[in-house]
Amino acid sequence: MEVLYSSTRGGGSRVKASEAILKGLADDGGLFVPDHIPALDKSLEELAGMDYRQVAYEVMKLFLTDFTEEELKDCIARAYDSKFDTGEIAPLAEAGGAYYLELFHGATIAFKDMALSILPHLMTTSARKNQIKNEIVILTATSGDTGKAALAGFADVEGTRIIVFYPKNGVSPIQEKQMVTQKGSNTLVVGIHGNFDDAQTGVKKLFSDRELAAGLDRKGFQFSSANSINIGRLVPQICYYVYAYAALLREGKAAPGEKINVVVPTGNFGNILAAFYGKNMGLPIGRLICASNENRVLYDFFRTGSYDRNREFVLTSSPSMDILISSNLERLIYRIAGNDGDRNRELMTALTTRGKYEITGEMKAALSDFYGAYADEKETAAEIRRLYESCGYVIDTHTAVASAVCQKYRKETGDQTKTVIASTASPFKFTRSVMNAIDAKYDSMGDFELVDELSRLANVAVPPAIEEIRTAPVLHQKQCEVEEMKDVVLDFLA
Ligand SMILES: *Cc1c(COP(=O)(O)O)cnc(C)c1O
Repeated sequence: MEVLYSSTRGGGSRVKASEAILKGLADDGGLFVPDHIPALDKSLEELAGMDYRQVAYEVMKLFLTDFTEEELKDCIARAYDSKFDTGEIAPLAEAGGAYYLELFHGATIAFKDMALSILPHLMTTSARKNQIKNEIVILTATSGDTGKAALAGFADVEGTRIIVFYPKNGVSPIQEKQMVTQKGSNTLVVGIHGNFDDAQTGVKKLFSDRELAAGLDRKGFQFSSANSINIGRLVPQICYYVYAYAALLREGKAAPGEKINVVVPTGNFGNILAAFYGKNMGLPIGRLICASNENRVLYDFFRTGSYDRNREFVLTSSPSMDILISSNLERLIYRIAGNDGDRNRELMTALTTRGKYEITGEMKAALSDFYGAYADEKETAAEIRRLYESCGYVIDTHTAVASAVCQKYRKETGDQTKTVIASTASPFKFTRSVMNAIDAKYDSMGDFELVDELSRLANVAVPPAIEEIRTAPVLHQKQCEVEEMKDVVLDFLA
């Protein structure tokens, strides 16, 4: 059955999956949502006999219904290949009484690779299907992780170019090195003299510049976005939850039909929303546990029904979760508002104008699948140490937030259901915080010294993504003022 996509704010007409992927955001500023969530049409036992690519196909074909089998299988084959350091793509590791779903085996060793390795192929296929002859130009502002994952995904993909703006003095040295060493003749990385907000605002301005768009169209280019609200990033994220359940069945770790809980370290609410969609497709998931760091706006929301971003922004050791506006939550709000675009729009307008909104008791009751909890900095570090000392398994700071929350949840509720924890980054990506959590004595060591020490402790080889940047030549040295961003783009496309 065909799945069409419409805006969470009620405007516009319904579009095909390929159109939603090309557009990213709906014209009225809403997010595209499927008109229904399809049920899995293979049994979990059948899925248990499949490899990652096969499972990905079985899930994605149900959502991207205007893609042919050949198109979709081709996208999947190009995405989930030797860029991943394991053929399993998303292996499950059992440690300390839980299953860690390792989503960090891709090119940039964080879970963004799971979707950003396939998005470029979904996008070029969508362009072809819609007779778009223009080259797609991805414009991104990044505070660190997304920029590199998008660069790695789009590098040398025919029919695309990618331009990443980052705050010259606002990312970590390792993050900057990762980006400025990016290969690919279609890539451009630019450090701007300003902070992340300046970069973000500058990019938004370019996106809404109609004159620029018309000029580029004449030259054969059009902008698109690799932002996490793109349905082309959400759908690929459902696959690994299905794959994880199938793996538990295959290995005899779960009985057919047995419910599992899922804990997800959350920022923009994309990853946990994918798990929710998986549950609605028929995956036996009990609780969806939403783990926050000290920016606990979601914890407060699930507890009180009031979403309030008017609070201090805290910088934590899990920076990819330092977010006060979780944009993908809008898809869940729309759903619990009875798929009512007007009601959802009112709440989102309140969020923009007053920084907060409140849901009704009836809407709150519809959130019973979710459980919000958080871990502070001390609890997060203690969890890294606990797991290392008890079983030698080393997790990153984001995963540690989820792992600590899992412990808290079990204590608070007595629920001993088997649990899958989404492990969203390699500990090598956040080496200093991880090593300091294990022992304060490491604080005096240099960055790469720490990497080698972590490799020894965890008994895991240094990932190529880290190994490479020790010696990789710097290929991008461009810097600019915020006002010059448009000229930089025009130059690159000349
Ligand atoms: C992006 C990110 C998250 C948050 O995921 P959302 O889908 O935005 O909720 C968590 N951990 C890491 C390492 C990330 O890069």
